[in-house]
Amino acid sequence: MDAPTRLITLRGLPATLAASDRIPPECRTHVEALVRLRTATFARWLAPLTLAWIPLDVLALGAADALPALVLRLALAGGLLALSQHARRLPRFTAMWLLLALQAVGFGLLQWRVPPHEDSLRIGYGLFPYLMAAQLALFPLPWWRNLLAALLAASQLALLLALEGASADALLWNRVWLFGLIVAVGTWTGQAQLRLLVRLLAARRDAAHDPLTGLANRRHATARLQAACADADRRNEPLSVLMLDLDHFKRVNDRHGHAGGDSVLVALAQVLRRELRASDLAARHGGEEFLAVLPACDPTDALATAERIRLAVATMHVPVPDGAAQVTVSIGVATRDAGEAPGALVARADAALYRAKASGRNRCVVG
Ligand code: GH3
Ligand code: MG
Ligand code: MG
Repeated sequence: MDAPTRLITLRGLPATLAASDRIPPECRTHVEALVRLRTATFARWLAPLTLAWIPLDVLALGAADALPALVLRLALAGGLLALSQHARRLPRFTAMWLLLALQAVGFGLLQWRVPPHEDSLRIGYGLFPYLMAAQLALFPLPWWRNLLAALLAASQLALLLALEGASADALLWNRVWLFGLIVAVGTWTGQAQLRLLVRLLAARRDAAHDPLTGLANRRHATARLQAACADADRRNEPLSVLMLDLDHFKRVNDRHGHAGGDSVLVALAQVLRRELRASDLAARHGGEEFLAVLPACDPTDALATAERIRLAVATMHVPVPDGAAQVTVSIGVATRDAGEAPGALVARADAALYRAKASGRNRCVVG
């Protein structure tokens, strides 16, 4: 049964809710960044809209009563603008909570200071709780987080009803019902966005990585190398690449089977992860060829890194179904000339690798 069908069966509901009550750890930074971005954008739009209401205050309340409203609106707009400027630097979901809290306080004071005493006023000022509830749809968050945020909007509705002295008539239930409906749709929309985002991120990760070794694939490595070249130009730093190819790998497959060969590829990927810096990139370039991109790395360091990898590979014993496999690797090393195109740099490393093969394998050659 696919996910959309599971959503509407009652039996599957508890499992669906349980599975959707948290943000997967690998998606957290993306979700937080998106929530911050949407908070900043919404706050930037809401600030001028808050001020645009000032002429209506004057029309509806008269100049004298509109003055406190004006002060409140200016303070609220200032707070929203400041939030839009700083949202991206605030930790986790702080910006979102500040956005909702600012509105709860600002709109709450407005409602209290300018109690709606005419139908025309009620229409305008009575919209705050619904405006806040509708904002839940902005945030790609688990349903319970958005329900928590809905409490702030609910406090606005409670305040409004209290100020009006509303009695429990059909009109009141009508308004509570409408509010609940907007919260439900906003919460569901946020949850649906989260699910979509999680799947999108997983698809993006899969599209950029080799499923066997977990390293970047050739397409991703090409894009990253291009970006690394641009960075190197901007910072005036060296950039080196290593092209690695396992020696006589066909024999490994012949001797230990394809599964044994696969284990060797996975073991080489582990060596690369261990021996390279966090800022380096290791990629599976194809079959049993690997590419390493080493930013801010001069020819001496690049050769030393290549030697370290070569030695680590030569001394490893990879468990395979029929015992242990031993392999060696040949490595071509190239450091980028000023302004050299990424393709030309890789071609030089490849030519050096070819020379390493031709001169006996299990060695590093600088191109
Ligand atoms: P050389 O030292 O000249 O590089 O010899 P080699 O045998 O490694 O050379 P070649 O490039 O001709 O052979 C590569 C082999 O790698 C052929 C192919 O069967 C094997 N291979 C490519 N991809 C995979 C894979 O994903 N898993 C396994 N097990 N083998 C692979
Ligand atoms: Mg080979
Ligand atoms: Mg090869």
